[in-house]
Amino acid sequence: MTQQEIVQTIELEQADGNLHKYLADLVNTGLQFGGEKVEQQQYLDRLGICSGCEKAGTVKVGGFEFIGCQVCGCPFATKPYWKKYFSFIKLRIVKSRCPHEIGNKWEQVDKKYNFNN
Ligand code: SF4
Repeated sequence: MTQQEIVQTIELEQADGNLHKYLADLVNTGLQFGGEKVEQQQYLDRLGICSGCEKAGTVKVGGFEFIGCQVCGCPFATKPYWKKYFSFIKLRIVKSRCPHEIGNKWEQVDKKYNFNN
């Protein structure tokens, strides 16, 4: 799957009223709990890395299916978009990072934007 196909799939998710509302609620909750977003180009560059990853695929959240990361189960419309977010599992603010078992695949992209995690 190419970066463009991922972006197009996210756009389709955002055009679907139910999915869009669910994603918007997730993002708004994240912002209320101290989340911070990365710049749009960093987000797109992260998606470029995900587009070449074998872990990219369908994830199920809140009863809905999204395109996302099958390691952490997060939709691509949310996690790559965050600089940091509140983890309801860890009960604290965490930096957003790629969870691949070989290491953080976003590292080079994030370094380019002076964001080390
Ligand atoms: S493991 Fe990392 S690079 Fe792969 S899909 Fe998940 S977040 Fe993207």
